[in-house]
Amino acid sequence: MSTNPADPAQILFAATEARWNTYETPLRDAFDEIDLSYRLATELPPDQVDFIIYAPNGPVQDFAPFTRLRAVLNLWAGVENVAGNDTLTAPLARMVDPSLTQGMVEWVLGHTLRHHLGMDAHIVNPGNDWTPAAPPLAEDKRVTILGLGELGLACAEALHRVGFQVAGWSRSRKEAPGIICLHGQDGLVDALRRADILVLLLPLTSQTENLLNADRLAQLPSGSVILNPGRGALIDDDALLEALKRNVAHATLDVFRTEPLPQDHPFWHHPQVTVTPHIASETRPRSAARVIAENVRRGIAGEPLLHLVDRTAGY
Ligand code: NDP
Repeated sequence: MSTNPADPAQILFAATEARWNTYETPLRDAFDEIDLSYRLATELPPDQVDFIIYAPNGPVQDFAPFTRLRAVLNLWAGVENVAGNDTLTAPLARMVDPSLTQGMVEWVLGHTLRHHLGMDAHIVNPGNDWTPAAPPLAEDKRVTILGLGELGLACAEALHRVGFQVAGWSRSRKEAPGIICLHGQDGLVDALRRADILVLLLPLTSQTENLLNADRLAQLPSGSVILNPGRGALIDDDALLEALKRNVAHATLDVFRTEPLPQDHPFWHHPQVTVTPHIASETRPRSAARVIAENVRRGIAGEPLLHLVDRTAGY
């Protein structure tokens, strides 16, 4: 990717120094000519920045001083930490990275198969119990994915290929071969009622916060399992703890309202909860750098950016 060498685009990497250390080489490799910096003000005054590569907890919270900003390129798929920032008036693009998607497919597939095959019974078997019982086949198990976007659809397709009965739920109407596509409030009721395994891959917005409240959890079938690699606040924690006494057999949670999950949180030691430390998937520097370079190229050429966020919808 080449910007104009005589007047290269000025790109600010607005994330932590540790992240800069992992991204600098892949980013430099993805561009031929690039003026890239992570030091704000000392190396790159705000009013000279054309593009910001952004992650939460970096040096930029106020975008107002960035008077010639052409776009903010988010390093993560989730944009809840920046989409509502009123100081940002330039376009915001989120991360869609093939390696991030692949990682999520593997996490969802792995945890679905764990519960589907009842693996725990043999991994943790204190009584040396020998009771042969053939596990069910995937075709006998219904998996619902809330969110049929970049990640949800890829997971739905992978689960369908294994043989599961897969349904997905989204805001807009969708079609995907082999997947039962549901949408809207009626669609949500159907999606929950048929979810032997429920996977949450929704963004966190004002519409989706606490989506899984007590009423909706009660609609899940008896013995259902929840996998949440989406965002912690999609679920009402107290309602989930109650549902675990009733119809929900297990919850595997990767994301939480507060991260790291506080040491005294009941999820840590709950026998029906598995905690993973927000590792379901991650943006990978090498492939993400290519996505960013392509969006910078588009921004300079005046072409529409890829993966633009609808700030009104919040994702
Ligand atoms: P997308 O924006 O591609 O997809 C979001 C999906 O959610 C879309 O299908 C969208 O519907 C649907 N949706 C949004 N709002 C609603 C609503 N109110 N009602 C019904 N459906 C809705 O996001 P991604 O698939 O890329 O990512 C999903 C989330 O996964 C991220 O926002 C992030 O929170 C999380 N994530 C977690 C990671 C981890 O390691 N744990 C890593 C990466 C992401 P429609 O298609 O109609 O627009």
